[in-house]
Amino acid sequence: MRMNRAIPLLVAAAVSIVGAQAARASKTLDIYVVDVEGGNATLFVAPSGESVLIDTGNAGAPAVRDADRIAAAAKDAGLTRIDTLITTHWHGDHYGSMAELAARLPIRRFIDHGPNVQPAPGPDEFLQKTYPTLYASAGHTVAKPGDTVPIAGLIWKIVSAGSKTISTPLPGAGRPNPYCAGFKAHTVNPVSGQPVGNTEDEQSVASHITFGKFRAVHLGDLTWNKEFELMCPNNRLGTVDVFFVSRHGQPSSNSELLVHAIRPRVAIINNGARKGGQGDAMRVLYSSPGIEGIWQIHYSLLGGREYAVPGIFIANQGEEQQHDGSAYWLKVSARADGHFTVTNNRNGFTRSY
Ligand SMILES: [Zn+2]
Repeated sequence: MRMNRAIPLLVAAAVSIVGAQAARASKTLDIYVVDVEGGNATLFVAPSGESVLIDTGNAGAPAVRDADRIAAAAKDAGLTRIDTLITTHWHGDHYGSMAELAARLPIRRFIDHGPNVQPAPGPDEFLQKTYPTLYASAGHTVAKPGDTVPIAGLIWKIVSAGSKTISTPLPGAGRPNPYCAGFKAHTVNPVSGQPVGNTEDEQSVASHITFGKFRAVHLGDLTWNKEFELMCPNNRLGTVDVFFVSRHGQPSSNSELLVHAIRPRVAIINNGARKGGQGDAMRVLYSSPGIEGIWQIHYSLLGGREYAVPGIFIANQGEEQQHDGSAYWLKVSARADGHFTVTNNRNGFTRSY
């Protein structure tokens, strides 16, 4: 009973979604990493056509732009709605264009970590006034670590939420993690200089996704210290094919004990021109055992020539802080046998893994 306490709601929501789902002629799990200029928006489309969006880009003036960009990816995937929206946390670069997006595409189920722990006028007003109206006629679930989000054809596990991580390893995982030995906790965020411990980042709803033999993780902005809780002393995630790099590729996350232990074949960074992609984070990715490819949504001025990947692997080359209008995405297409491709929508370059 206790183990499954959060599941009945999710199952009830899933039944209606599966029942109404239009068939899609695809054998791949398609994942669009949408450029929201240093925010996050990652769209998963299962072979069944069922969709999961993680985050909705920036609040304020860029919200219309970001909703348009997410809607463009959804259109490319043939979607007429978003089945599940997971909002990792209540920072403006993650929940920002939710209302604007909901005006373009119906959203059927909303998942989050619960109340905002970092009071601020923007999210507090959004959560009081706007959010309840968006989920009023949809499903709303607060995620708990260990939950399974039922998505047809995928195994979608929540591995951290509300500052709590899973305590038992995922199936096949759980080996001792040799990278834990060198861990040094952060007392301040090395990027912002702010104290760590009770920010929204720690609350991030973090996901592990399995499609046949293909595995991916998307941990939102889960912090350096939370990575230690999740990954030490035992590696509870195992290894993955694709790592959607945490927190825009900033060194306030992305420790070796996470990245090197999950041993991604490919890392994809949703950074901005001046957010993420710093050398300290890039070094961890470049030195990760078994890494075969690193892709960036933007050229990063913070990493510069020394740390940027070759331009062919970068979706957007502009150096403006915020670039308006449309932008390019990176798209992963994964097969159940574990093979996958990554495509740069700017230049059409595709690589198979
Ligand atoms: Zn963020």
